[in-house]
Amino acid sequence: MKYISTRGESPPLAFMETLLAGLAPDGGLYLPEFYPRLAEDEIAAFAGKPYADVARAVIAPFIGGEIEPQALQGMIEAAYCTFRHPAIAPLAQIDGNLFVLELFHGRTLAFKDIAMQLLARLIDHALKARRQRATIVGATSGDTGAAAIEAFRGLSQVDVFILFPHGRVSDVQRRQMTTTGADNVHAIAIEGTFDDAQAAIKAMFNHAALREELKLCGVNSINWARILAQTVYYFTSAVVLGAPRRPVSFCVPTGNFGDIFAGWIAKRMGLPIDRLIVSTNSNDILPRALATGSYAVNGVHATQSPSMDIQVSSNFERLLFESLGRDAAALRALMAQLRQSGGFTIPPPALAAIRAEFDAFAVSEEDTTREIAKTFAQTGFLPDPHTAVGIHAARKAQTTTPLVALGTAHPAKFAAAIERATGVPPALPETLAGLKDLPELYTVLPNDQSEIERFVRARARAATPKRAAS
Ligand SMILES: *Cc1c(COP(=O)(O)O)cnc(C)c1O
Repeated sequence: MKYISTRGESPPLAFMETLLAGLAPDGGLYLPEFYPRLAEDEIAAFAGKPYADVARAVIAPFIGGEIEPQALQGMIEAAYCTFRHPAIAPLAQIDGNLFVLELFHGRTLAFKDIAMQLLARLIDHALKARRQRATIVGATSGDTGAAAIEAFRGLSQVDVFILFPHGRVSDVQRRQMTTTGADNVHAIAIEGTFDDAQAAIKAMFNHAALREELKLCGVNSINWARILAQTVYYFTSAVVLGAPRRPVSFCVPTGNFGDIFAGWIAKRMGLPIDRLIVSTNSNDILPRALATGSYAVNGVHATQSPSMDIQVSSNFERLLFESLGRDAAALRALMAQLRQSGGFTIPPPALAAIRAEFDAFAVSEEDTTREIAKTFAQTGFLPDPHTAVGIHAARKAQTTTPLVALGTAHPAKFAAAIERATGVPPALPETLAGLKDLPELYTVLPNDQSEIERFVRARARAATPKRAAS
């Protein structure tokens, strides 16, 4: 299987190369040359199977022969035995035809563990095979960094540098990043916003000499392997609800469009998904784009669901590319407009194709708070603010199929918002109870590109050894 860039100006890569590259050199995102299809009886046979078995069946066709089946199986099993629930991603019913898919039973209590645990093992495997080291760099508004640090800590081939906005992540999120005690983990608080942190990471990747010297590797949601790993739980949950015999719809709290795009891939592979429903907080670029056809950036609003506080939704580029019939030149033109003027108009045929599969709703802060209280009072299920955004949008959506709202984080991660909504703070799961007593270690850096790069270069073991001063 080869992977092509959405911008059409980088050579196709094999799976392992795609894994290590993250972003394509031409600035595009990688997609497989084609989507392998699973037969209806193969999908039907997923019912009742362990999560790891379904994962292998869904993921293997995208890897081709690049990883031995035994090794892949081993990595998948090791990734998912870190979860606190034997089903990995269980379903909870909260209304007649409405279900929550609980994706937060991993170590850092957000759905990002599901992809990151596997991604770390795949990357370590690829680097060992090449006898290489790499430097993982990433920006986070909280969840990605915690999941990456938890997944990569202690691995021999990689050093991890995570930039987060100083004072703008939750207490639990910060402690998860700063208390591992691992030598290969570096948590960096930037005196700036998430967008500043993200811009610093992008600039490092665009600095070709640095990228090569440090063997930079990105693990944010544009990494293809993360999307691939997320495709699995669409299958496991849909078969519980009667797929492939019966179609199912999904409602996904969305920021960078990675998680919901994984659902779109599952559909391309043959899973009968009826509607894919995008739900956002007041950072509503996607609902505006679907409603008006105009994809236009405006400022970031801070909300109680910070992992969805984004300006541009990076993975939307992948859907756009597909909706343009894989016309890379047309996509490049739109991306150039986005850079120059902060927006573009989605060509009408592409917009029609997107609307044929997706709906989108923005959910206000008040509605999110009310939804947390309402769902808890009616069902006993306590949604975190991101999950509540999804549930609220799901209630507005009109579908005749069973509807699964993705539960993307554990309420304990966002205690202040939960207490505001319900009057009581959520209980911390046992795994987090000791977190507040561990010593924290992190570095505060100014929002200054050269200082950030100097810090990373001085500590990354992949860096070419410097000549000793004479
Ligand atoms: C990252 C995250 C999201 C958004 O996921 P995308 O793939 O960026 O759309 C939603 N909820 C939580 C809790 C997250 O951590």
